[in-house]
Amino acid sequence: MTTTYQRHPLGAMLPDLGKQEFRELVEDLRQHGQQRPADVLDGMILDGWQRYRACQELGIELTVENRLLSDDDAASLIRADAKRRNLNASQRSIVFAQLTDYTNRLREAARQKQATSGPGVLGGKPLLATLPKAVPVHRNVEAARDAAVSPRTMQDAFLVVKEAAPEKVEAIRAGKASVNIVAREIRAERRPEPPAPTKDRPPSAQTFTVEEWQACTSAFQQEALAQRGKTKMNDTSDKEGIEWAHWSWNPVTGCEHGCTYCYARDIAEKFTAAFPNGFKPTFIPERLAQPGNTPLPTVNEPAESPRRHVFTCSMADLFGAWVPKEWITSVLETCETNPDWTFMVLTKYPRRAAEFTIPENVWMGATVDIQARVKTTEAAFEKIKARTKWVSVEPMLEPIRFNKPELFNWFIIGGSTRGNQTPDWVPPMDWICALHSQAKAVGAEVFHKKHLGLPEHLRSRSYPWAKQPQRLLPHQFEYWKRQ
Ligand code: SF4
Repeated sequence: MTTTYQRHPLGAMLPDLGKQEFRELVEDLRQHGQQRPADVLDGMILDGWQRYRACQELGIELTVENRLLSDDDAASLIRADAKRRNLNASQRSIVFAQLTDYTNRLREAARQKQATSGPGVLGGKPLLATLPKAVPVHRNVEAARDAAVSPRTMQDAFLVVKEAAPEKVEAIRAGKASVNIVAREIRAERRPEPPAPTKDRPPSAQTFTVEEWQACTSAFQQEALAQRGKTKMNDTSDKEGIEWAHWSWNPVTGCEHGCTYCYARDIAEKFTAAFPNGFKPTFIPERLAQPGNTPLPTVNEPAESPRRHVFTCSMADLFGAWVPKEWITSVLETCETNPDWTFMVLTKYPRRAAEFTIPENVWMGATVDIQARVKTTEAAFEKIKARTKWVSVEPMLEPIRFNKPELFNWFIIGGSTRGNQTPDWVPPMDWICALHSQAKAVGAEVFHKKHLGLPEHLRSRSYPWAKQPQRLLPHQFEYWKRQ
């Protein structure tokens, strides 16, 4: 008769092994015995439930080690186990989100209990001040890095843990459903039903949210797309703007990715008169005329110059999953009909860009801030047909290595300036150098952002069309050639 155990709730957050993997474990135990004891906390199995099941099947006694761990340490142990296991990104993100949710609930309960039971003291400090606070789930960049998934997937996992039906969560844990698809279903359910298509809109209406756009008849949409305003693009060269593009153009604003370091959201929330919808995705069709309304820089300007570069939708992600197709098509068509400008677009969802024809004068780029984005970005760029492909590694939040750097013509490397939710950040020099070398090795050009703080003579500011002049060694240093 072997000892019976319960499973610790934290341990239960790890998905069970698949049938095949479990059979292999049983066979391994039969041949070699139990190599590692199971961890037991409060009399329950924290880590080692699969070994326990296998031992039960073989009728052998499980070797255990009783552990004394805090909830946070126990959760860390399960996280480490989840990283070792052969889980897909959806499974991993759910395990990490559930662990955060569980420890947050325990932390909050401890704080509430302390707050209602009077001020205790620990080490001279009020006890409440010493208790850990719940981790805000919006810090999905850190959690994503830990789980080796994209911040978007991590954000989806937090949403699923909070709102999805238990059977959906179980399906993800079992590897039978995708966390992104379940999150998309939740968001779709949350969206208010679009009002029935209307024939008309008030003539004063100049902007559209996604819901408003979907509520319009296609005839009205066509009418809206034909609107032509008189305004021009925004000249940012005289401001502390983007160094590599002297213009910005925003026929679409707002984004749902939810990056903590987003400067665009900070701007939209600050200047409410200019952004009446805040950071909600919004289309302003009359701005489609802006490139045509803006005189080209003519004074001694070469055909290729940052003076002709337009950072397109700098306040949005034009290829975000939520953006109606007509918005994207109208922006790309406008780019094509203004061939003297070079339009530079950045997205965190490049997979969608592969569905469109990218005009020759559009530099198609993606932002990669953590290693987990590399694989999906490269997969998308293998399909994207664009003359110039680039990647903005900004903010570089960890050392980033590309598997197929030859897919890109241009690499921008940067950190982050202070935002409403994030501090200044300059990546370490060895991260910058490693990525720089990788890019140069495949003949790509590199642009170091100013805020990296590199001395000007060491800073690379090359564009894919103009290489940085080669630095030649002064002849006085070439003494060895004379020997
Ligand atoms: S993808 Fe860009 S615009 Fe969207 S939230 Fe992130 S930083 Fe902001």
